[in-house]
Amino acid sequence: MILAFDTSCDDTAVAVLKDNGNYVNLIASQIEVHKALGGVVPELAARKHAEVIAALTKEALHKAEAELSQIDFLSVTVGPGLLPSLLVGVSFAKALAYSHSVPLIAVHHIEGHIFAPFFKRELIFPFLSLVVSGGHTHLFLVKGVGEYEIIGKTLDDAVGEAFDKVARLLGLEYPGGPVIDRLSKTGDPYRFKIPQGLKHDKSYNFSFSGVKTYVKNLVNSMGNLSKSDISDIAASFQKASIDILVEKTFKAATEYGVKIVSISGGVSANSYLREAFAEAGKQKGIEVVLPPREMTTDNALMIAYRASFRPFEEATTEFSLIEAKPSIKVGSKLI
Ligand code: ATP
Ligand code: FE
Repeated sequence: MILAFDTSCDDTAVAVLKDNGNYVNLIASQIEVHKALGGVVPELAARKHAEVIAALTKEALHKAEAELSQIDFLSVTVGPGLLPSLLVGVSFAKALAYSHSVPLIAVHHIEGHIFAPFFKRELIFPFLSLVVSGGHTHLFLVKGVGEYEIIGKTLDDAVGEAFDKVARLLGLEYPGGPVIDRLSKTGDPYRFKIPQGLKHDKSYNFSFSGVKTYVKNLVNSMGNLSKSDISDIAASFQKASIDILVEKTFKAATEYGVKIVSISGGVSANSYLREAFAEAGKQKGIEVVLPPREMTTDNALMIAYRASFRPFEEATTEFSLIEAKPSIKVGSKLI
């Protein structure tokens, strides 16, 4: 049984994963706190993590009908993320591990995202993994656990960041992804020709900073926006941004000859993204694997799941080796 923590950004996440596959996956969202400020304030996020993590852990154990003494391994996200936030989870996990003599497994947050779609499914290598989140837009060729080749990535903003920034320009609330997703359902995705960065570039890299500038100029030139203007901009932006992800991902899948494509990270909750990837997969005969919705944005179940792959090799009781690593690259040694 694994007890896992993720405090990499603004969600305090605790999960219990049992060896029979049953789980408890709890998230204490700080959105209300950060909404008022228009984005995540790291010091505030850390303080909120510290306030709730102990109670959330108690609740997770209670819901799992488990005692701390039954936990075989603890696991925690060590990076990447906001340093003050990471420190809370890492310190809490180390203290618990030390006081209860439970081995601790350090997990890379993005490895959590990479494997989340395969929770309760067979893991077959190689696969192409598109991670689309608040900080990443990365295309990985995953050849095995710990074997990740970056095929492409954003050269500037992450796509989730673009959703958040465009929402802000439209006067919508934080985080922007879910609102844009909702408003797009009634918007006209063909009304505005939103730029698709690096569309004609042969690489599998992406660029989303141009979108932000384009929307900014558009909003300035249009003056007062009606509700339908906002929905049309949202829908046009969403379609343009997701379509370029679909196009480049499947092009890479064909070039690398992979039969499985997975998409994960917060933006993989997007309803248009889920439809567009599923449809393209069907057309191209490539299996598309998406995470269950509760494993799209940050959660600790994906951390527990990743920790469950090689617990005996990766766990340590030398807790001083485990540190918060805010900028750690995927595939680097964690301890
Ligand atoms: P990283 O994983 O790169 O460290 P993060 O952990 O902050 O970044 P996630 O929690 O995985 O990112 O994802 C958050 C992002 O997902 C936000 O930018 C948010 O706007 C976006 N998002 C959430 N739901 C949706 C949605 N339905 N449609 C589009 N984007 C969404
Ligand atoms: Fe994340």
